[in-house]
Amino acid sequence: WSSETIAVVTGGNRGIGFEITRQLAAHGLTVILTSRDSIVGLEAAKVLQEVGLKVFFHQLDILDTSSIKAFMEWVRETYSGLDILVNNAGINFNVGLENSVEFAEQFINTNYFGTKSMIEAMIPLMKPSTSGARIVNVSSRLGRLNGRRNRIGSVNLRKQLSDMDALTEELIENTVTTFMEQTKDGSWTSGGWPQTFTDYSVSKLAINCYTRLMARKLSDWPEGHKIYINCYCPGWVKTALTGWAGNISVEDGADTGVWLALLPGPPTSGKFFAERREINF
Ligand code: NDP
Repeated sequence: WSSETIAVVTGGNRGIGFEITRQLAAHGLTVILTSRDSIVGLEAAKVLQEVGLKVFFHQLDILDTSSIKAFMEWVRETYSGLDILVNNAGINFNVGLENSVEFAEQFINTNYFGTKSMIEAMIPLMKPSTSGARIVNVSSRLGRLNGRRNRIGSVNLRKQLSDMDALTEELIENTVTTFMEQTKDGSWTSGGWPQTFTDYSVSKLAINCYTRLMARKLSDWPEGHKIYINCYCPGWVKTALTGWAGNISVEDGADTGVWLALLPGPPTSGKFFAERREINF
């Protein structure tokens, strides 16, 4: 890795995204710090530039197709592509509540559809290399498919979503669409959805499934053009998203994401990590 290595971090203006940006740049990479708000994004980039890091700002709202398009064009023209994409941008503002479905549509639009749009937009720009380009999705253990707690109640749906050979984008989309419809008509309580942070958990479950699906789709790309995609849970981190109630620092929360982005050797793909170890989906 060198300053020729281009990394993009979404939601880099604060929290875990800012720290991932800092750590990647401290490894000598050139990092594009993106933020939907240009003023705070420029400020955040300045803080890192002032300590000598190669960090540059560009506006990016992962919910706005024209913003994604403008960003894509800028990356292509300025850097002729990228090597690492960290999809960190995400929302969860039901802090303090045991459960909520109130924000289902917003959470799924940002955490699932927004992240998916970024992956689709950036894949064509990922640079060929012998070590392979990397995509890291910042997810959550709350979205585990087969965790002992907080999983989908329907054995059949769990089985379908776990079947790597048969998994499709349609199945993931049907799952989130059914969930959103049920939150609107009130039938979600009998739908067997996760019981803790329900809306957030479903959004992260969807991006976990999509990570595995993309890993499968990308697996037969030729040597020299490989793209490895994984997701990780940062733990419960002291950021605005947890109302600063987390039990670990942003440094620790960013660590596994940076490790995955820079993983040497034959890199893994389609896996879920926490504390630098593989965990079950
Ligand atoms: P923060 O709320 O501090 O940061 C979230 C970041 O995402 C902000 O930069 C925010 O921008 C950005 N963002 C939100 N929506 C958009 C959008 N539409 N376009 C671009 N950027 C957007 O949270 P964290 O740092 O804690 O969270 C980062 C990631 O880690 C999230 O994906 C979260 O789900 C995940 N995570 C966090 C955990 C924790 O304990 N903190 C636990 C598990 C997972 P803005 O400043 O403009 O709002």
